[in-house]
Amino acid sequence: MGLYVYKFGGTSVGTAERIRAVAGKVLAARERGDDIVVVVSAMSGETNRLVALAQEMQEEPEPREMDVLLSTGEQVTIALLCMALRDKGMLAVSYTGGQVRILTDDSHTKARIQEIDNERIHSDLSAGKVVVVAGFQGVTESGSISTLGRGGSDTTAVALAAVLEASECHIYTDVDGVYTTDPRIEPRARRLERITFEEMLEMASLGSKVLQTRAVEFAGKYNVPLRVLSSFSDGEGTLITYEESEMEKALVSGIAFNRDEAKVTIEGIPDRPGVASSILSPVADANIEIDMIIQNVAADGTADFTFTVHRNDYRKAYEILSSTCRQLGARKVSGDEQIVKISLVGVGMRSHAGIASTMFRALAEEGINIMMISTSEIKISVVVNEKYLELAVRTLHKAFDLSEAG
Ligand code: ADP
Ligand code: ASP
Ligand code: MG
Repeated sequence: MGLYVYKFGGTSVGTAERIRAVAGKVLAARERGDDIVVVVSAMSGETNRLVALAQEMQEEPEPREMDVLLSTGEQVTIALLCMALRDKGMLAVSYTGGQVRILTDDSHTKARIQEIDNERIHSDLSAGKVVVVAGFQGVTESGSISTLGRGGSDTTAVALAAVLEASECHIYTDVDGVYTTDPRIEPRARRLERITFEEMLEMASLGSKVLQTRAVEFAGKYNVPLRVLSSFSDGEGTLITYEESEMEKALVSGIAFNRDEAKVTIEGIPDRPGVASSILSPVADANIEIDMIIQNVAADGTADFTFTVHRNDYRKAYEILSSTCRQLGARKVSGDEQIVKISLVGVGMRSHAGIASTMFRALAEEGINIMMISTSEIKISVVVNEKYLELAVRTLHKAFDLSEAG
């Protein structure tokens, strides 16, 4: 007997039948004697549909109004799930984020949770109820509805598990755990029994959308036992943990990739102190996040400067660079929107050299050109043309023996 937070993603609540199946999973847990708090996403496709509708109204809608709109998706599923739970004879109550006081800052569309009032939930649980909370949303100090960024229901679930001191937080989704890479790209990807918080954090922030990065951060910070499992089948899933598993002492644990990348280059800039800052300051002022940066100096004493941005920010970054180019008297600006970032992640890299060279050799043998490289203690990322995404992921998966157990 324990307290569990169960989160069900969009596909898992995508139809009436699936919502009834979720109610069935909750019933089984109640019959084992567990207290259950359920967090649900909007039905699959709904958040995208709402985003598209907003864009028909205005090119750049007010973030506050976006949040009023986007939060409606989850409100539908909490009510439907409660009905399904009651239909199976359970007591159940639904709450929006605001109603359980998931208090956030006021950065609409990407708000951060600051505080949660757990009293109401505890008293409902004591009264024998299943508590169903809308994922992805909260309320600001001034009472406006906020949302937590795409994939944010994961974060709602982990944050609730933290304040309620749940035994475990279960993220039920359409795959039966965290895999060595996205199984949609490499069907031979292998489910990991365990992965460390550190690795999962890298995987998520480098593009593996199976968990929202902030959810992993939160779970790590508050030491919430976190498990990713399938909504559709039984199984142990993947446990995200602090311990490094004895069984899986792999050098590389997984491969992440990110399709939302673009790069811009300013060529032939005079190479003197202050140039990098005069290129990047206006980009930062426009709230554009920069990821990788490369500067190379040519024999004629001028430099080329390249950096990557989110594809949505490409046009804006290009325009800013074009005006910087005129100011600095640089030669020209160029860009590429057809790039992807592919990353190897593993705590085993810390103590092993030679991973980068194996990676680069494997890619070279397939004729895949590497445009940019960046490394840290537990990851190596490369930027390549997007047409190579699948080939590169599969090539690396093979080169590091990720399909084989062990
Ligand atoms: P949900 O709607 O349940 O939140 P998501 O679509 O956000 O589900 O996340 C699940 C998806 O994440 C899977 O269908 C899978 O394609 C993708 N994914 C990406 N990388 C991985 C990985 N390393 N392991 C498992 N799934 C991954
Ligand atoms: N419905 C939101 C989204 O699609 C939040 C979530 O599902 O986690 O991003
Ligand atoms: Mg998700």
